[in-house]
Amino acid sequence: MQISLEGKTGLVLGVANKRSLAWGCARSLAREGMRLCFTYMGERMEKTVRELAADCPGSLVLPCDVTAPETIDEAFAEVRHEFTSLDTVVHAVAFARREELQGNFFDTTKEGYMIAHEVSAYSLTAVARRALPLMEGREGSIITLSYLGGERVIPNYNVMGIAKAALEASVRYLAADLGPLGIRVNAISAGPIRTLSAAGVTGFSSMLDNIAEKAPLRRNVTADEVGDTCLFLASPLSRGITGSTVYVDAGYHIMGS
Ligand code: NAD
Repeated sequence: MQISLEGKTGLVLGVANKRSLAWGCARSLAREGMRLCFTYMGERMEKTVRELAADCPGSLVLPCDVTAPETIDEAFAEVRHEFTSLDTVVHAVAFARREELQGNFFDTTKEGYMIAHEVSAYSLTAVARRALPLMEGREGSIITLSYLGGERVIPNYNVMGIAKAALEASVRYLAADLGPLGIRVNAISAGPIRTLSAAGVTGFSSMLDNIAEKAPLRRNVTADEVGDTCLFLASPLSRGITGSTVYVDAGYHIMGS
């Protein structure tokens, strides 16, 4: 089976710049012909996202802050107006305060905990609920981005690890809910990649060194590799897969230390 996404549409949340994993996903999807809508968070990001989106024929660019439900509603109303239906959603959105991504997990504040979960975990459910009416009957695919810190203790990842655990559990519950409607929901657990968000994790460079030394493939992964797995999960090639977490981490997750 060949992958062609001509005539398909996708919504990509989480492009901040050309290093974003969301942009890696978007490049792969657009390469195979998918028409995309990008959302950006905050006016500061708009120009960059518009410049990147210009490389994707027929794309839309809309504001959306997942902590402001009315902006999610407005984005979906515009997607419905422009695309009528939706085949794919890429959710690549996460946030935790920098001070929560260092030191001891037990110092996490209630507010920091809530923000991390609202943006990084609950938003998937908020988006999936709104995507549902546009995806019904389309064999849609919802893809989110996770990290090994949701399963194992990774120094300094702290509250974001708890949010990723909630995100991966949400993938399973959403997959069970939406499977009967033909909609699949999966996560990609990516290895560390230098992005804007990653820069907020204390000791990030040593995480990269550790993977290069210990992962079976003895290297780090790229946003393009994440993007191509996203393409697979968006395409009919993965039609039998839902509720799964697929690792794109050079095999690091199998190692004991
Ligand atoms: P990034 O900074 O490029 O992307 C994060 C995005 O989240 C940004 O576009 C930002 O605008 C968006 N965002 C933050 N708060 C938001 C809000 N309230 N509403 C809407 N959007 C909001 O970083 P990235 O590394 O590409 O992160 C994308 C996803 O990949 C995240 O879920 C991240 O946890 C995950 N991930 C990253 C790595 C890594 O090492 N970079 C590894 C595994 C998983």
